[in-house]
Amino acid sequence: MSATDGTAVLTGGCLCGAVRYAIAERPLGVVNCHCSQCRRFHGHVGAYVSIPRGTVRITGEKSVSWYRSSATARRGFCRTCGSSLFWSGEGQPLLDVAAGTLDEPTGLTTLRHIFVASKGDYYAIADGLECFEASAPEPP
Ligand SMILES: [Zn+2]
Ligand SMILES: [Zn+2]
Repeated sequence: MSATDGTAVLTGGCLCGAVRYAIAERPLGVVNCHCSQCRRFHGHVGAYVSIPRGTVRITGEKSVSWYRSSATARRGFCRTCGSSLFWSGEGQPLLDVAAGTLDEPTGLTTLRHIFVASKGDYYAIADGLECFEASAPEPP
């Protein structure tokens, strides 16, 4: 399945517009990751939708820089404006897309919090959503 402008259910992009993407399948919702790597990469909590790789079409991909943040993952950001856009796990079928870069209205809601054991000490999680100490047992 490939996302084209005609079939995209969601679109988004970086702050400067050099990187745009189209998603052909509706994600279930948004997952907030509180791990220290996400907080450094995004400046705060990482809010992501998980999308099957084959359903995402990225335009301006040459403007995406990929930073290897761990042995098993890379993080993609726009090399012009610095927007943090993607989390890509080695060999994983899903690509995580930063929810804050989606065009609105998204029609999505936040589902759960993950890696709350390493959350920042400067905020509280008080929305009543399910919290996981590390990763969730099932992908969102
Ligand atoms: Zn940009
Ligand atoms: Zn994280």
